[in-house]
Amino acid sequence: MFKNLEEGMVYDIAVIGSGLAGLTAANYLAKLGYKTALFEQHYMLGGLAAHFSRKGHIFDVSLHGFPIGMVKSCRKYWSSEIADSIVQLKRICFLNPQFNIETTFTREDFTKILIERFHISPEAIENFFQKLNQMNFYDKDRRRTRDIFEEFFPGRNDVHRLLMEPISYANGSTMDDEAITYGIVFSNFMNKGVYTFEGGTDLLIKKMTDELLKNGVDIFKRSKVEKILLKDRQVVGVKVNGTHIQCHTVLSNAHVLNTIKNLIGEEYFLSEFLEKVRKTRINNSSCQVYIGIREGESIEDMGDLIFTSENERFDSTELRDFHTTSRTFSMYYPKTRPQEKPMYAIVASMNANWDDWNRLDEESYQREKKRIIEDSLQSLKQFIPHIREKIDYTEAATPKTLFRYTEHPCGTSFGTKFEGLEISMELSEQIKGLYHAGSVGIIMSGWLGAMNYGIITAHKIASNL
Ligand SMILES: Cc1cc2nc3c(=O)[nH]c(=O)nc-3n(C[C@H](O)[C@H](O)[C@H](O)COP(=O)(O)OP(=O)(O)OC[C@H]3O[C@@H](n4cnc5c(N)ncnc54)[C@H](O)[C@@H]3O)c2cc1C
Repeated sequence: MFKNLEEGMVYDIAVIGSGLAGLTAANYLAKLGYKTALFEQHYMLGGLAAHFSRKGHIFDVSLHGFPIGMVKSCRKYWSSEIADSIVQLKRICFLNPQFNIETTFTREDFTKILIERFHISPEAIENFFQKLNQMNFYDKDRRRTRDIFEEFFPGRNDVHRLLMEPISYANGSTMDDEAITYGIVFSNFMNKGVYTFEGGTDLLIKKMTDELLKNGVDIFKRSKVEKILLKDRQVVGVKVNGTHIQCHTVLSNAHVLNTIKNLIGEEYFLSEFLEKVRKTRINNSSCQVYIGIREGESIEDMGDLIFTSENERFDSTELRDFHTTSRTFSMYYPKTRPQEKPMYAIVASMNANWDDWNRLDEESYQREKKRIIEDSLQSLKQFIPHIREKIDYTEAATPKTLFRYTEHPCGTSFGTKFEGLEISMELSEQIKGLYHAGSVGIIMSGWLGAMNYGIITAHKIASNL
């Protein structure tokens, strides 16, 4: 079913990496009739759309919520079966010293909450939404998210928290990032709320793999691309686990900076372009705590996503502090995986900085991992008092875990800051036949962003071939 490498294999297109952008692009290109190979260094497909099983529990790493746009993208570029499995998460909760709120995370509900709970005028809210809707990538408006919040809700740190906190978790952006990165992502969610894939990441990736195979993609697992091979600054192949594969087009789903620096080599790029590469900031990483509820135990439905914090005021950079008290609890009830035996699991997610974890020696690293597990259980106690008696498994992941799994620089969860999109899009002008798709520029990250960027790049490839 999956392919083995053989010296001298020939393809039209090699896709490096099976994140959602790589998978979606490979599927699209194969359906257009191109002979497409997909190389993934890991033994599982999906990249950060990952799951793992331990002691009878299945944990999702990044299936916490995405906008309704996924339904359309999945129907158009995957299958109706996949699109039809997308369901709404109806109970999104906030619990912090400034407010305790439950919402459907839709524009109607947010408007109601902002008027009734925060006493904001309907005009200010309408103007804010209109401003976000008018934002356009090509405007080159360099204002920050902070500027937009101060314009419409001056001095209202509580309102800023309601509007910004989920987006900071969703794509790592802060108040100091370009307002467009906030505007696009927030508007996507405000369209119709937050959605998930019923059946879990494992089922989704299985269905996608079936589609890829049906459409003729050759899939190579445990196949690390070491180099993209060039002749006269034109792609001529890839070297995978020491084996040479021929192709004139490569779509790299590896991190854009790894693609430039390691898979190609800086010496092949023009100095003006390299200047932009050097200025590209890597986005932040994450920590997670996985909590398995013992078989036979249950927890009552207390919401699907719970944003908690003990911080008196909102500060988007505090969210990634080593000792942050701000975390999102993703609650997985039996409805998440109706095809499996009824089980409950909870995943706590925190934003994190690479340096805080990378500088620790092994002993401190293990101690700090235990600490974030303890902190998360302590925080959970506020709404599940007997949580410790119900669990039989805990584990923590850190930026180092994400690095080990994907090799993304600094274990980043969300690619690069805004400027990374430009270098990603310009790769084919530097090296003939080289393209990138995957989390970049904040707006192209997340499940929907990565998937749609895969299609944008695949479309560009098809029109250039
Ligand atoms: C903890 C966490 C929580 C998240 N929560 C959400 C969420 O709730 N909602 C949401 O929408 N998004 C979420 N995200 C973000 C989302 O998961 C990612 O933006 C998206 O999955 C990234 O897809 P991608 O196409 O950029 O590739 P990635 O998932 O980054 O995958 C890249 C793939 O390339 C492979 N690769 C790299 N180099 C090579 C090589 N040389 N040879 C072969 N293979 C290679 C890697 O092994 C990997 O499989 C979360 C991310 C994290 C880390």
